[in-house]
Amino acid sequence: MYSEIAKRLYSADKIVILTGAGVSAESGIQTFRDPDGLWTKMNPAELASIDGFLSNPDLVWQWYKARREMMSSKKPNPGHYAIAELQKLIPNVLLFTQNIDRLHQQAGSEVVYELHGNIVENHCMDCKKPYEDDKGCESDSPPKCQFCGGKVRPSVVWFGEMLPYEVLKKAQESAISCDVFFSIGTSAEVYPAADLPLIALRNGAYVVEVNPHRTVISDLVHARLDEASGLAMPKVIEEYKRYVKEIEK
Ligand SMILES: [Zn+2]
Repeated sequence: MYSEIAKRLYSADKIVILTGAGVSAESGIQTFRDPDGLWTKMNPAELASIDGFLSNPDLVWQWYKARREMMSSKKPNPGHYAIAELQKLIPNVLLFTQNIDRLHQQAGSEVVYELHGNIVENHCMDCKKPYEDDKGCESDSPPKCQFCGGKVRPSVVWFGEMLPYEVLKKAQESAISCDVFFSIGTSAEVYPAADLPLIALRNGAYVVEVNPHRTVISDLVHARLDEASGLAMPKVIEEYKRYVKEIEK
């Protein structure tokens, strides 16, 4: 399995990696859909939706502030580092993530396409300009935009909201044109991101799923590594390096 993946990586012109909550779970960030995950104790519609924010701005703002603090204490794990290394070893590895925690960047991935935004940034609901005042971000109520006075919100994609158009378009185009597609630690249930591995499959890519739990795409993919990414991805790197050494000697 690993040697076939290494071979595919070596001959690929374009590689796409899609990561989900499972990758960060190993860093201690709970996943949305785990039975014992954080969200089962809260009502997501109240905390992560525009309606929830408008009807209870302070609660939602404080919830995101707490999540930001929680996430800033977490560190990347071997899965994040292996993905960053893959991007350095091979040209044209595009990384798309559904995670908002910025751990890929911390691990050294220079270009990361964030499908669901991120927990670090905030912006104005009205004029959309970024809000960067540290003191305002620390307050217990959403601060007001310095340009138009609008309400400042976290730059995450909430339930019921569209994904950032340019990022999603880039992801869809890349899924169509890539040779190898990795679906890592994602439940493959949340559309439209869930479509990406299927688009890749339909367009002839070699699709690898890395996930200790089976998902709706498990029976469709070419290779399944049923381990956490922190275990599987370093092995992918190791095997790739071994293969390159072998073939180029
Ligand atoms: Zn504004």
